[in-house]
Amino acid sequence: MYLTKQFSAWPSMLLCALITLSLCHDVNAKEWLVDSQQGYQALAKQLKPGDVVTLKNGVWNDFDLVFQGQGTSEKPITLTAQTKGKVILSGQSSLRLAGKHLVVSGLVFKDGFTPSNSVISFRRNKKELAYYSRVTDVVIDNYSNPDKQESDYWVALYGQYNRFDHSHLVGKRNKGVTMAVRLDTKQSQQNHHRIDHNYFGPRPIFGSNGGETLRIGTSHYSLTDSFTIVENNYFDRCDGEVEIISVKAGKNQLRNNVFFESRGTLTLRHGNGNLVENNVFFGNGVDHTGGIRVINKDQIVRNNYLEGLTGYRFGSGLTVMNGVPNSSINRYHQVDNALIEHNSLINVAHIQLAAGSDAERSAAPIRSQMQHNLVVIQSKVQPFSFFDDISGISFNQNVSNVAVDSKLASGFSHENVMLTRADNGLYYPPSTIKQGVSRDLKVIDRAQTGVSWYPKSALNIAFSSGKTIKIKADGDALILAIKNASAGDVLVLSDGNYDIRKLVSIDKPLSIVADSPLAARLTFERSTLFEIADGGSLLLDGLHISGANSPDSTGNTLIRTKKWGMLKNYRFVMRNSAIEDLNINHSFHVFDSGLGAFADQIELTNNTFTNVSGDVLRLNKEIEDLGIYNAEYVVIHNNTFSAISGALVNLYRGGSDESTFGPHLTMTKNVLNDVGLGKRNKHRSSVYLHGVQVSHIDGNVFEHGAGLRIEHTVGEPVTYVTNNRLVQTPKIAVKELRSSGQHTATLLNNKSQ
Ligand code: CA
Repeated sequence: MYLTKQFSAWPSMLLCALITLSLCHDVNAKEWLVDSQQGYQALAKQLKPGDVVTLKNGVWNDFDLVFQGQGTSEKPITLTAQTKGKVILSGQSSLRLAGKHLVVSGLVFKDGFTPSNSVISFRRNKKELAYYSRVTDVVIDNYSNPDKQESDYWVALYGQYNRFDHSHLVGKRNKGVTMAVRLDTKQSQQNHHRIDHNYFGPRPIFGSNGGETLRIGTSHYSLTDSFTIVENNYFDRCDGEVEIISVKAGKNQLRNNVFFESRGTLTLRHGNGNLVENNVFFGNGVDHTGGIRVINKDQIVRNNYLEGLTGYRFGSGLTVMNGVPNSSINRYHQVDNALIEHNSLINVAHIQLAAGSDAERSAAPIRSQMQHNLVVIQSKVQPFSFFDDISGISFNQNVSNVAVDSKLASGFSHENVMLTRADNGLYYPPSTIKQGVSRDLKVIDRAQTGVSWYPKSALNIAFSSGKTIKIKADGDALILAIKNASAGDVLVLSDGNYDIRKLVSIDKPLSIVADSPLAARLTFERSTLFEIADGGSLLLDGLHISGANSPDSTGNTLIRTKKWGMLKNYRFVMRNSAIEDLNINHSFHVFDSGLGAFADQIELTNNTFTNVSGDVLRLNKEIEDLGIYNAEYVVIHNNTFSAISGALVNLYRGGSDESTFGPHLTMTKNVLNDVGLGKRNKHRSSVYLHGVQVSHIDGNVFEHGAGLRIEHTVGEPVTYVTNNRLVQTPKIAVKELRSSGQHTATLLNNKSQ
């Protein structure tokens, strides 16, 4: 046995004995300090009300922790850490709770992932669930399955009357909702769970469906009431996908939560009678930040504060959807009896009503009200758009500083509203205006959420945040320096020639920059120079790179990501560099993404590319053509491309899923000469975009090359091709692949010669 009966148990028992025996039902309660998994297993079967099990400080590897017992409300059974934050569950560890009145606290899950379908589950199996139990003060940090498409939950709530609070969840990178409230059996319905004071830290863009931060229910049980309370949580840059929170059950209350720079919305996707109240959304102008999306019956959206939200369409600051007549349970139930009142919408770019109206979603909102809301837009661009009959929404006594559409005008008073920021951080109009959120709205501070003993640190290490290291002109010296560098370091290359003999793996954010522009000249002898591995990001600046010493074989690549196993999103930036003679054999590419690799950002600025026998940016790898695409933001600005046999950019998002916002392409002020004419260039185009959601192609010159080919699929892609000059280049081709009729791209002021 490995049990240690802790001496400190005695004073409390003595104290009990000194009071009266009748008050102390826990004379048999014990405190245990456990230092091994075997010790825990032996103890776990005999836990009694009032028992306290303390895990010894240290790393517990591959611990399949089952915490089961029947506590009472006065005498719960407790599992805790010797010191909060010093008990680390790593490797393939998980926690399951079953029974009643259990309390778990102080644990940290990191350096591993769950081998089962959740990290923390409020059930042992389908029959043994947890009730009246609490998990508090725990951390789950980057505990992501290394196979990004393997789905799991970090927290799965089952049973009834459970609480998950004051915990810190950050960096979920694999597929699956971070926290799920499951209603899949009767024992888990009408659950009255409470989810409060948690810090939902950054969740990176997942790049397809399955990146929600919190989901309550599923469509299947969505007409069932859940009675879950979600309050005083902080959602910090929860960017996984279009739904930050997806409510799919009835009678939940979501209140006093803060959403900070999070892309997506709180979506009332299924289920009726939910209350969304006193929440605060700060978008700070970040792309695709949204607010609240209303679907179904009897929803109340009251006293919410929404500021600086840029999102549009289903990701707007406020969206009221159209429904499907006699909708099946998994489509869109008509909005009926919605009450939307006393909300403040400050600098919210879009408010969309009867959104999603189409042949299927033809049921406009009915019996609904929007009243006492405050809409203030500094830019004076009115934010409302509607897509169907909105006579089912009555507008009363709202105030706006912009003239709204005439159909709404009678419900708005148009006033010049001066705003002042109050002590709670929110803008308020003069006290004569009663519209908008209450003066006493309490905004939870980030520091009041999560745990106090674990840092809320940034998810990504910025380029140039580390040391500057000078390198002499020697290929091996550069390889060694890259190996020894720390994340964020800048390697400065002295003038001279660097012939690189080995493939260079970049497994941390690094900048490699020339001391003087184009005076550090790199050649390489392997089929690839730089390989971005998981956790790596690369910035190149001022380099001169030639393929002259590369192997005389097909399919060389200057830079690629690892071909598999990329869990973490990466960034690749190249500026002020000259790339030439990648043409020793055919299909020599500049940049090639692996399957499942995902770039938050790819940027090419102020470079020249000359004599390339392959493509420049190959961002077209999908595992199953389901829309798991390769890059969120691609920026190509002020470069010159000459004699490129393949495409400048091949950016592809397949499938029909609409859970993501990207990819985005910005291509401005580039000169392309003789790009895309090689016989191996499959799409016969210099720029090939398929399913790209946002494209701005402006002020470029296309000379003597292949044309632009743009294929719209699902979503409502935003495409602007403007002010470009085409010289002996085919005309711009835009196709709608999923809808008939005219394409929706804006082509303006493009000149063909
Ligand atoms: Ca989703």
